[in-house]
Amino acid sequence: MEEKPVSKDIILKNLEDFQSQDLKYSDGRILGSMCTEAHPFAKEIFCNFLDSNLGDPGLFKGTKQIEDSVIKSIGGLLSADEVYGNVVTGGTEANIMAIRAARNHARKYKGIKKGEIIVPESAHFSFKKAADMMDLKIVEAKLDDNYKIDIESLKNSISDKTVAIVAIAGTTELGLVDPIDEISKIAYDNNIYFHVDAAFGGFSIPFLKEIGYDFPDFDFSLPGVCSITVDPHKMGLAPIPAGGILFRKKEYLEVMAIDSPYLTVKTQSTIVGTRLGAASAATYGIMKYFGKEGYLELIQNLMSNTIFFKEELKKIGYNIVVEPELNIVAFNHPTIGAEELSDLLDERGWKVSVASCPVAIRIILMNHIKKSHLEELLEDLKDLY
Ligand code: PLP
Repeated sequence: MEEKPVSKDIILKNLEDFQSQDLKYSDGRILGSMCTEAHPFAKEIFCNFLDSNLGDPGLFKGTKQIEDSVIKSIGGLLSADEVYGNVVTGGTEANIMAIRAARNHARKYKGIKKGEIIVPESAHFSFKKAADMMDLKIVEAKLDDNYKIDIESLKNSISDKTVAIVAIAGTTELGLVDPIDEISKIAYDNNIYFHVDAAFGGFSIPFLKEIGYDFPDFDFSLPGVCSITVDPHKMGLAPIPAGGILFRKKEYLEVMAIDSPYLTVKTQSTIVGTRLGAASAATYGIMKYFGKEGYLELIQNLMSNTIFFKEELKKIGYNIVVEPELNIVAFNHPTIGAEELSDLLDERGWKVSVASCPVAIRIILMNHIKKSHLEELLEDLKDLY
């Protein structure tokens, strides 16, 4: 640290130099991110709540009401009248909380000491972190030919040590939705905690379903679903860090409660202690500002870009890995490997990512990618073909 204070101008210039090395969403070159530029209104609200600490909610009662209201609104989208949970830092923390709730619940009510969680091969790596932290064994259920959980493999994975089953509504690599209705029944019949990771799909599937898209039920309308992850900072256009974890019953928060002696509340169930209220406030604002109509329009635009891009790729001759269900297109060149193609695109300034299962280029059609960017990208893909 400097001995003497530095002037604001110098500091700002300094920071600007660093920031100039970052990519900007608005350039339309970030093609493999599940986050996007937050809406300006949400950013404005965020700055107004930077001092609110939800870790000590007795001091910030108004901000706590905002958080509760956000959870209730998201719960409303997911067929729950009553729901419990928190706005957290993202999908990772939300999934860790869900697994902690399941582990503690099974330990308390079933006496399972060293448990297992069943996740599909397509699950986000946050479940590996959760298992590692909580000394749980991961059992991977195989995928079927359509890259969704294979129901037989799932059934065969269940044991008397299973503390949770996880399914995905909007897989990270391909944006696919598992047969959550069938899995919910299996979990319910076997009295096993069932968590749905809708970090990516939670802000779009409800709206697409309403206009007739063919998705299975995936939310609290299914009696087996115990918790759902939904991230406002992905498809919700809220600023980072805004994840959401919703529980069907209060007891899932209660089994995680730790005494918090010096605070205004007696216990805390979240992983994080000091928590920013800004994410809740910004999410509250953007959800009201968009309303269902706004989100529906947004996702319809993204789906239309997705279909356009997929069809154009096919015309050039690229192989589409699977028909997109959400706004992700995964594809391969007939002869050039995905890693090599990714490097070739990188040389032309395109930041794509490579899926692992199956190996393919993966493009996420987020709000910052406009049709003109896609047309430019298609020109380059034609050129490389
Ligand atoms: N779950 C799913 C399905 C995801 O796609 C992701 C991230 O892409 C996560 C969880 C983790 O979210 P985060 O990066 O916000 O922690």
